[in-house]
Amino acid sequence: MVIAYLSLGSNKGDRVGYIQQATSVLGMSEGISIVRTSSFYETEPWNCETKNWFVNAAIEISTTLSAQELLAECQRIEKQLGRNREAEGHYGDRTIDIDIMFYGNEIINEDNLLVPHKFIHQRAFMLVPMLEIAEDFVHPVFGQTITELHEALENPEMVYLYGTRI
Ligand code: ADP
Ligand code: MG
Repeated sequence: MVIAYLSLGSNKGDRVGYIQQATSVLGMSEGISIVRTSSFYETEPWNCETKNWFVNAAIEISTTLSAQELLAECQRIEKQLGRNREAEGHYGDRTIDIDIMFYGNEIINEDNLLVPHKFIHQRAFMLVPMLEIAEDFVHPVFGQTITELHEALENPEMVYLYGTRI
């Protein structure tokens, strides 16, 4: 059983609804249990061509799936919730994006999977939701906690609390 952290984001349609649906579908997947979920945060698009703001959240899961199986399951759920990679272009609008931020303390460098997620330390929209659910988690590459990585961010103000879960 491994503790993993996922980042969920949506900037198209019912953004909060897609994140809630993705969370509940993940929780019903074989080999995945939801441990904790963050609030919802609204964030300006980062390095995207779009102007549509994102809603982001982080979730903690415990899983018996391998990291590759977890990635495949996340991608299956993205598709199920209407994500269409061909139509959206590289950094376009998406109903749901599910990224693996951490998979236990593992460092994975495979063609289709980099864990920890390569941009966590630069992205307030990943660190701020993580602060709420796992502030003391230590980044296995940088050896710094989520709190320390957040304090070192250059743009921590760009993430706004959007709503809490019921
Ligand atoms: P984005 O970079 O905006 O999340 P996509 O969701 O389309 O874009 O992901 C592009 C590719 O990133 C996926 O096909 C996947 O194989 C790869 N990838 C590498 N590392 C990860 C990770 N940690 N979590 C999710 N996808 C990853
Ligand atoms: Mg993704």
